[in-house]
Amino acid sequence: MTYTRRIRCDIRGIVQGVGFRPFIYRLARRHELSGWVCNSSGGVILEAQGEDAALHLFVFAIRAEAPPLAVITALESEEILASCGDEFIIRESKGGEGAPEISPDWDVCPDCLRELFDPADRRFLYPFITCTNCGPRYSIITGTPYDRPLTTMAPFVMCPLCQGEYYDPADRRFHAQPNGCPLCGPRLTLTDSGGEQVAGDPLAQAIRLLAAGKILAVKGTGGYHLAVDATNDGAVRELRRRKQRDEKPFALMAPGLMEISRFALPDPLEERLIASPERPIVLVRRRDDHNLSPAVAPANGYFGVMLPSTPLQHLLLRENFPALVMTSGNLSDEPIAFRDEDARQRLGITADFFLTHDRSIQTRLDDSVLRVFQGNPLFLRRSRGYAPRAVPLPAGQRSVLAVGAELKGAICLTRGDRAFLSQHIGDLKNPETLASLEETTTHLKKILAIRPELVAHDLHPDYLSTRWAQEMTGIPLVGVQHHHAHLASCMAENGVEGEVMGIIFDGTGFGLDGTVWGGEFLVGGYESFRRAGHIRQVPLPGGDAAVREPFRMALSWLREAFGPAAFELPLPFIASLSEEEKKLFDRMIQRGINSPLTSSCGRLFDGVAALLGVRSAVSYEGQAAIELEGMAEQGGERPPFSFALDATESGCLCLDFSEMIRELMEALLAGHHRGTLARAFHDTVAHGAVELCAAIRQETGLERVLLSGGVFQNRLLAERTHDLLAARNFQVFTHRLVPPNDGGVALGQAVIAGRSRICA
Ligand code: ZN
Ligand code: ZN
Ligand code: FE
Repeated sequence: MTYTRRIRCDIRGIVQGVGFRPFIYRLARRHELSGWVCNSSGGVILEAQGEDAALHLFVFAIRAEAPPLAVITALESEEILASCGDEFIIRESKGGEGAPEISPDWDVCPDCLRELFDPADRRFLYPFITCTNCGPRYSIITGTPYDRPLTTMAPFVMCPLCQGEYYDPADRRFHAQPNGCPLCGPRLTLTDSGGEQVAGDPLAQAIRLLAAGKILAVKGTGGYHLAVDATNDGAVRELRRRKQRDEKPFALMAPGLMEISRFALPDPLEERLIASPERPIVLVRRRDDHNLSPAVAPANGYFGVMLPSTPLQHLLLRENFPALVMTSGNLSDEPIAFRDEDARQRLGITADFFLTHDRSIQTRLDDSVLRVFQGNPLFLRRSRGYAPRAVPLPAGQRSVLAVGAELKGAICLTRGDRAFLSQHIGDLKNPETLASLEETTTHLKKILAIRPELVAHDLHPDYLSTRWAQEMTGIPLVGVQHHHAHLASCMAENGVEGEVMGIIFDGTGFGLDGTVWGGEFLVGGYESFRRAGHIRQVPLPGGDAAVREPFRMALSWLREAFGPAAFELPLPFIASLSEEEKKLFDRMIQRGINSPLTSSCGRLFDGVAALLGVRSAVSYEGQAAIELEGMAEQGGERPPFSFALDATESGCLCLDFSEMIRELMEALLAGHHRGTLARAFHDTVAHGAVELCAAIRQETGLERVLLSGGVFQNRLLAERTHDLLAARNFQVFTHRLVPPNDGGVALGQAVIAGRSRICA
């Protein structure tokens, strides 16, 4: 026997602007239900009426068959009184103050891609083809509710054909806000660097110019790329020269996975990530026999590769280039250019031509960068395709704005049990980047309808983010210790509660005792923490100069291990110092002149890299450590070096690597393979860390260990540490949703502040 029921469902998550209402409409018709669906302030609500069994199947299918861009975080249904009517309709949005979640920008879907290359289709080769299942979202939204007038599509008036699709619930372009066609939508233009339009078809001409070795600025989803033919060595070198970028690897874009396999060696999981609709840059081991320019990624065993993520990029690459260099359109440290005028000014000297269009970008987004670690993505940079997707928090909390640290700036806003981590903004070392951070904050607050009750910031008094937070008035501030924030960030994304221990290995962070921390073993949770251990502190000769010149850290560790005799060791970077300089460094290190003490693990990696001859100076942060990891991957196995675990007066454990430095030095002078030594160094750090954790477990009984900090971008170290911990029955947690580096710090700050007892 069947009977009629009526239910009301409240659905939350990313359910607006992703074709959710037409999906519900079709689903309801399929199950012969009557009722309605509409956007609400927080998501989508619907009422459906029909036979009991059909309703069950309907509710089940909402989750099971949801459109590809949708993310359902909550679906609540209740039974209500049945009413009359046998139609199912899509009702107009209620509008008003919205608090939905915003979809990230996605690649072209297979349906649109097919049409793009179908000569019979009216959007054949149209670079702005899109539907409800694909295309730009976050980058074009100017306000909420997500509706065409509140996107950068507002100036484009749809032609009758496009309108027909837009208003037809059965069409896959029903309410596709960026909908358009060659008649009514955005158009491409190609100009030279002076702004003069180039005659002919912009796309065909752009392909011709790229093939001729020219540098093109190409407007993408969240900003401009600088593009050159990756097989053209002269062009790649010229781009390096003009961009003033000596060694940092360039990202590559290839038309398909097959083309990628000709110059790189992605494993199946890497392939899956590369081909995912988020379209990140994935670091993939490169082939030795590739035919791309060696200047793409000098001294690096990996290529950063991605597939096209806009129709324009598909059109540029397909059957034209095995790979293009697609590097962000900026000069060294500035944010990526995304406004047309600004791009023209800033990139005019770098690019020969501009391939651009008349749909503006509202939100600047860099490409996301990740590598694979133990079957999961490990974010190095979280941006396009992922931002501003929410990270679910283990519990609801007060609304917080967290402003992040200095390097790899990103902010975090929370609402209930959701944390919205912004896209990567860049290193906050100049006013432009800070301005970009402020803009992003204002925009995200608006479109997510969040009014924070607290502001969280780093304890470092000189970070631009800290100063900015301190300028805000009428809102309580919460200062959060840098490594505590790292720990909480990893806890939050893993849904971990209670007391844990954390290995936080990173470059620099302001310590509670005023020294530079960075090789930390913390015990605690969201509410509080203590420093249970750290890597032995050594002087950082010259402060920030030591970051740019890793040989200074090598001197510091060698001085620690060998005393004054360090300056007589037969190493090239020591031999190149004059007697004066040697005395100067000796004095600096001995007396701590302009040499703050640091426990930084990142600086330990720098020092060992210099010692093993990787390099004495770097052109970007982390370069020495990255190349050291590359060297270690070439090495063979040998037992780890010695290290010591001592208790300090404060009751904190100290992990001392000076013995390792002595043994490493002796082995190096005895002519051992550098790769093998580099590998053994990684191994030693992992063994040391695990011993220290074991000591903490003995004392506290804690079993859970979380790994965070930028040094854990190093896969070899992360893997070693993880495996050794697991082998000793620790429960290990690592980052999968946000970067382990400072790009993820804002999440931790937000949760610590949200759970603090500070009153708003
Ligand atoms: Zn599509
Ligand atoms: Zn049209
Ligand atoms: Fe950090």
